[in-house]
Amino acid sequence: NFTKQDYRIKNTESNFDDIGGQKRAKRELKEALDFIINAKSYKKIGIRPLKGLMLVGPPGTGKTLLAKASANFTNSVFLAASGSEFVEMYVGMGAKRIRDLFNSAYKIAEREQKSSAIIFIDEIDVIGQKRESGMGNKEYDQTLNQLLTEMDGLKEHDSVQILIIAATNRVDILDPALLRPGRFDRKVIVDLPDREGRAQIIKIHAKNKPIDSEVTIEYIVSKTFGFSGAELESLLNEASILSLRDDKDTITKDHISEAIDKVLMGEKTDRKASI
Ligand code: ATP
Repeated sequence: NFTKQDYRIKNTESNFDDIGGQKRAKRELKEALDFIINAKSYKKIGIRPLKGLMLVGPPGTGKTLLAKASANFTNSVFLAASGSEFVEMYVGMGAKRIRDLFNSAYKIAEREQKSSAIIFIDEIDVIGQKRESGMGNKEYDQTLNQLLTEMDGLKEHDSVQILIIAATNRVDILDPALLRPGRFDRKVIVDLPDREGRAQIIKIHAKNKPIDSEVTIEYIVSKTFGFSGAELESLLNEASILSLRDDKDTITKDHISEAIDKVLMGEKTDRKASI
């Protein structure tokens, strides 16, 4: 695939208020984002800018939403890519794509007269595995080296400030070079939601759905221990479909129970598939 990739994401609708739970992650992110918002004051007192932030947590917990919300919060241009996109049969393509990604960030920010850009790299572990891990993949190594070079090259005096937010659920396999000071030196844990978090996420996704009065948020919360935000979203969506199929006006307890089973079944097949 030699077509030029567009990493620009225009739909950055996500705001921190639309993300349920993740109280601590949101607080830590906002604190870190102050580096962008008050960049000048930080520079004045000689604090080096924050270049990279690592979101760590299981799939579907809202890492992408948090990265988008960060762009909105700081009025930054938002670009997104996934680690697996950089992996090509042709040696050197991955490194070239990384260069393109950073160049696009500068160009778009300048064109739109924004003073900052956030680059989101999902599944960073695909290119960021320990280089000495014996995987022996030259392509991955070159891609990772290019990313590190780009990060090290981000200058304080540049008119566009760039922050790279990466996401992974396998921080243990990352090359330590990625986590060194001046690179992804801030880690934010984005874990599965607790009761309160699940209640908030359910409220967000139940907003425009005709939930029957026999179903309380507390009921759904009590049945969904261990569910991720993505699974809760999927559960409410499934329940709506079941209610429609039943020709009912509302989503009943039965629909919710059946939808929960469906999501759990899906999880099992996913697990099997990945073994
Ligand atoms: P992955 O690691 O698989 O890329 P992720 O952590 O980036 O997952 P998202 O892509 O942000 O997860 O979430 C997927 C979807 O799940 C969202 O679009 C949203 O509908 C729902 N979702 C996940 N977490 C939350 C949350 N905390 N609040 C509200 N919705 C959520």
